[in-house]
Amino acid sequence: MKAVKIVKPNDLQVIDMEKPVIDAKNNVLVKIRAAGICGSDVGIYHGKNAAATYPRVIGHEMVGDVVEVGENVTKYQVGDRVIIDQVTACGHCYACRKGRPNVCASLQVRGVHIDGGYREYMAVPESDCYRLPDSLSYEDAVMIEPTTIAVQACSRAQVEFEDNVMIIGAGALGSSILRIARLYHPRRIIMVDIDDGKLQESLQHGATDVINSRTEDVVARAHELTDGYGPTVVIDAACFKGSFLTACKCAGNAGRVITMGFGVDPDDINQFVITSKELDVRGSRLQNRKFQTVIDLINQGQVDLSGSISHRFYFQDAQKAFDFNDTHDPSIRKIVLTFD
Ligand code: MN
Ligand code: ZN
Repeated sequence: MKAVKIVKPNDLQVIDMEKPVIDAKNNVLVKIRAAGICGSDVGIYHGKNAAATYPRVIGHEMVGDVVEVGENVTKYQVGDRVIIDQVTACGHCYACRKGRPNVCASLQVRGVHIDGGYREYMAVPESDCYRLPDSLSYEDAVMIEPTTIAVQACSRAQVEFEDNVMIIGAGALGSSILRIARLYHPRRIIMVDIDDGKLQESLQHGATDVINSRTEDVVARAHELTDGYGPTVVIDAACFKGSFLTACKCAGNAGRVITMGFGVDPDDINQFVITSKELDVRGSRLQNRKFQTVIDLINQGQVDLSGSISHRFYFQDAQKAFDFNDTHDPSIRKIVLTFD
């Protein structure tokens, strides 16, 4: 079978690879039908993802058909359409015992630490598969994964109706978080970005207020919009130098600040800004078994992922897809690789 491998940074090759066989653990064989290109895939391609190891078959947004099942498989049958969870964990470390396999001490993410979804077939445990909503095409279904990341952030933030939520960054991640946060009916959702176009889009998707951080004082505006208190939830979906400090300065007493970045540039932050307001600063990494939550939201009509894909490339043309992505053409929303 064919696979897309990043042999080393900036060296993408379509290679021949042995088709996987199912065994006692990896007991479902999935024929991949669509795989999304995510910012982190681009980062691995360009050698900008510190977690990745090479050579690597990348791709962690992977959707396909069950084509073979092991004898002990109970949940799936040949022909089922599924999405595969990218997180694999040891099952017995402290984090795993606490029900948080997404930060397992021996975490192995498909497409990052172990081979991922840019290949024709994958063998995975049935417990890592989730049945797709009938209403969703394979291509649109790749968007379930980014939506799980948004659900994770909102769950770490414990968003509820009493909150004033501020989201820093109105790009793909921030707007996905906006769509989930609004399901909790918080008082306000304030979006922060430097791009007025993205901020306008946020208003159409349920933001109550927007702040352009290039032209406005974010900390002052955030307090004005919340009667002087400050947002009780601040989610940093942008992660640039200074954004963490801004988030902590904006957050109101007893609030939660959620970090999602992997940046290593220090912010000039002191304990006072956290202790004096007794802020909870929490990281949100990947997602913790949130696929079923998102699929349920789709089936209930609360989340609509249809029409999210802007561009499609055959997976063996992955080089073209990544080159096109690098043009940062404004028409790019989501690029998927297709397999037939
Ligand atoms: Mn992703
Ligand atoms: Zn573990």
